[in-house]
Amino acid sequence: MAKQVAIHGSKPQPLPRASQKYPSGRNCEHPDCTTKLSTYNKRSKCWAHADMKVPRLRGRKPAAGSA
Ligand SMILES: [Zn+2]
Repeated sequence: MAKQVAIHGSKPQPLPRASQKYPSGRNCEHPDCTTKLSTYNKRSKCWAHADMKVPRLRGRKPAAGSA
């Protein structure tokens, strides 16, 4: 006799919150750059001209003045 296995599901849920959008039709702030920025890009420059930002990859941010 075959073993009965219940298949579990979930009820349809409402859609998740929409992604944050920024005004459309923006261009990179850098002079001579014509790159259009995505409405999802919160920065004012394109990727090539944006200042480098180093995300914290692990650990705690050291307190100011230590180390
Ligand atoms: Zn640019």
